[in-house]
Amino acid sequence: MNNVDPRSKCPVCEETTHPIPYGEVLCHKGHDVGSVNVRYARQKGEVEALEERYQQARAACDTELVANRFEEAVLGESAAVFNCDLSALRLIFEHDGYYLNYYEQRERDKRPPTDIDKSRQRLMADAYLFPDFGECIRHGALYLGGLGARNYGLYALVVRDKRLLDNYASTLEENSYHFFQTKVKTCQAGSVMPSERPPEGYRSDWQNRHKIALAKHVDDLSDNLQDEAFQDLLLHNGHNRGEDEFIEVHVYGDESPNCPHIDKKTVAEVHCERISDDEEDFEILCLVQERVSRVPDVGWVWH
Ligand SMILES: [Zn+2]
Repeated sequence: MNNVDPRSKCPVCEETTHPIPYGEVLCHKGHDVGSVNVRYARQKGEVEALEERYQQARAACDTELVANRFEEAVLGESAAVFNCDLSALRLIFEHDGYYLNYYEQRERDKRPPTDIDKSRQRLMADAYLFPDFGECIRHGALYLGGLGARNYGLYALVVRDKRLLDNYASTLEENSYHFFQTKVKTCQAGSVMPSERPPEGYRSDWQNRHKIALAKHVDDLSDNLQDEAFQDLLLHNGHNRGEDEFIEVHVYGDESPNCPHIDKKTVAEVHCERISDDEEDFEILCLVQERVSRVPDVGWVWH
C-alpha cells in the first residue's frame, strides 16, 4: 500500500535523498518519525488497517462503558515492562549497564545461548518483523501492574520514560514469535515464509497502543468486568512462554549518543517477589535493592 521503505525514509515527506538512520527520530525536514520500528508501525497501510480493526471492535463492543474504561486505563496508566534475571538487574544498577537483548547477551557471553530452539524462534521472528534491525530491538510487554512477564525473568523493570516510549517504542498485538507462527500460517495456508510481508494492522506506535489493546480484547470485555481485571487481561502469565498472553512492546536501542536505553535513567520501578528459594540470591537481591534505593526516581516494589 505504501512504497516508502521505513528503514531509511520519512513516511511523512517520503524524502528519498536524505536517508534517516535507524535510531534517528526526526527526518531532515523535522518530521517526528520515530526510530525505525516506530516508522514501520506508522506506515500508511499499517495505520489504516489498525484503524479499521479498531473501528470494527468499537462497533462490535457490547459494553461501551467498559471499553472506554479499558482504553482509558491503557492510555493513561500503561507502561512497558522488561523482565530479567538477577545478573541483568545487577548489570543495570551496580555496573551502570543497560538491559541487553538476545544479541547483546550472545556477544557479551561469547557463546550462543544454550536453548537452540529459543534462538531459532528469536532469529526467525526478528527477521520477519524487523528486517535488518532485529539486533537493536528489545522485547517487553504492555503493563498495567504486577510482576510482568515472569517466564522471561523474576524481576520486572517498568519503563514509563516519555521520551523513550514516544519515540522509540512500538507495539505488536502478541508475542512476536506467536505472531510469526499464527499470522503467517493463517495468511498463507500453512507455509512459513519469512520473505512475505507481515499482515498489517497488528502493530502501532506508543500513542495508539489502546487501539491494539481494544482490537485484541474486545470479546473479553463484559459489563461486570472490574478495572482490577484489566491488568491480567493485558498481560497474562501462562505456565510457560507458549501459554503467555501479552501485547509485545518493542524498544529500539543502539550505540548512537542520543539513543536512550533501558537503564537506571529510564526505569521507573523494579517489581519482584520477596520470597526466594535461594538464600544466596536473596542476599544479593537485598544488596541490589540497596543500590536501587540510592538512584533518584527509581522505586522498588516488593510483592
Ligand atoms: Zn519528513
